Amino acid sequence: MNPAMTNSIADTLTDVEQAISQAAQDSRRQPGDVKLVAVSKTYGVEQIQSALNAGHRVFGENRVQEAQAKFPGLKDTWSDIELHLIGPLQTNKAKDAVALFDVIQTLDRPKLARALAREMERSGRRPDCFIQVNTGEEEQKAGIAPADLAEFVALARDELALPVVGLMCIPPVDENPALHFAFLNELARRLGLTQLSMGMSADYEQAVRLGATVVRVGSAIFGKRKAPA
Ligand SMILES: *Cc1c(COP(=O)(O)O)cnc(C)c1O
Repeated sequence: MNPAMTNSIADTLTDVEQAISQAAQDSRRQPGDVKLVAVSKTYGVEQIQSALNAGHRVFGENRVQEAQAKFPGLKDTWSDIELHLIGPLQTNKAKDAVALFDVIQTLDRPKLARALAREMERSGRRPDCFIQVNTGEEEQKAGIAPADLAEFVALARDELALPVVGLMCIPPVDENPALHFAFLNELARRLGLTQLSMGMSADYEQAVRLGATVVRVGSAIFGKRKAPA
């Protein structure tokens, strides 16, 4: 039987949190050093409410429009929700993204960095930013190429003074993710960035053992997705 149908969201959240704690301890880190982003893309408001009722507050969405449809109402009731953007951001949506999200994990090009800097200046809101790195150098994938990262950090963090806190990656599906997690960790260390967003349902424990400070977990909490995201 599909475990998602027998377990409540409260139960699966507890299971994932325990697995994170164990992985953190395995690598001599504190469980509190790792933040769990519950990825709620494609799931409905009722499922998000179940997670909120279980005490969870940190969520991730990959589309600005979908998040705009679901979260403003939830934020009215639960004012301490922390919402992360984990999908590609178009420059013309920078304004909406800065208004709604508390963390933007997908900063990946100069044009977007400039648009976010302008919008933060205008609005006074300053969501933390992660720079997405295309560690697998995949043609079709978002993220800055590793070779261009140092120069991009100099622009985004140093010149534009964006609140850049760390790096994020999505490893290629057909490769060992551990190599990408270790590589991202090394890149962040060299650039003096302390946060690492890496690891999804299939590999978050491995990511934690390799230094993740943020994991993005959807289906292991909410169950199998009906529609492709
Ligand atoms: C959908 C998504 C996730 C979560 O994926 P699961 O396999 O359901 O845990 C994590 N990160 C990003 C960028 C995603 O788009």
